[in-house]
Amino acid sequence: MQHHTPVRVDTPEDATDVTNATCKKQPPQPFLIRINWFKRGSVDEIKEGRELFQKSLKYRTEQYGYYRGFGKAEWNSTSPGQHAVKTTFFDRPLVVHKKIVPALKCVEKTLREKGFDKLYRVGGVGGIRYHNTYHGGEVSNHVYGIAMDIDSDRNTCCGCVGDWNKHPLCRKKAKTVYDRTALPREWVETFEEHGFYWLGHDPMQDTMHFEFLGDPDKVIAPKANVSVAGP
Ligand SMILES: [Zn+2]
Repeated sequence: MQHHTPVRVDTPEDATDVTNATCKKQPPQPFLIRINWFKRGSVDEIKEGRELFQKSLKYRTEQYGYYRGFGKAEWNSTSPGQHAVKTTFFDRPLVVHKKIVPALKCVEKTLREKGFDKLYRVGGVGGIRYHNTYHGGEVSNHVYGIAMDIDSDRNTCCGCVGDWNKHPLCRKKAKTVYDRTALPREWVETFEEHGFYWLGHDPMQDTMHFEFLGDPDKVIAPKANVSVAGP
């Protein structure tokens, strides 16, 4: 008998509120960035890339859950889907891993505070997936619930397989990848400040896709100790 992880139908709501929290800045962690796994060059560099990929699998499994076929079941007895929660990004509903909700909310908070919310209106977003959409031994961060796609009809993936590269924005001449997407640069940079990696930088040029590669324990600054004047 094959064991199938049940897709939960009773996904709980997550009411994380960062209004009064201090959102800390952090970069995506390099060992989780996929371009670092496929180094060309010497045998040593290629080997180093493979080791980073293995390290990323262990980290993602321990942090977010075990996805069958990737890493080891003993690293985490739960699956990412068991940690899935309903949340929103600019009032659009999506389901993601509970641990990345504060980071998403911090991105939204910063975009609003800087007035960047006026630059782009989100139509629809997608989060966790229960099937791996990558081929060739890789695993999508959507299965860990730590990736989000914004408006796949407007933000292209010109390096993706299938019909993705038939989009008019992929046909026109482009100076930079920002010409391939409706997303403003300010949005990309704000995501990056909060530990998200934009796959627009990847050879795939998946401009709709952000994945949280920061440390989920470092998103919110701990509340400062209120010091009470001693005697
Ligand atoms: Zn995606």
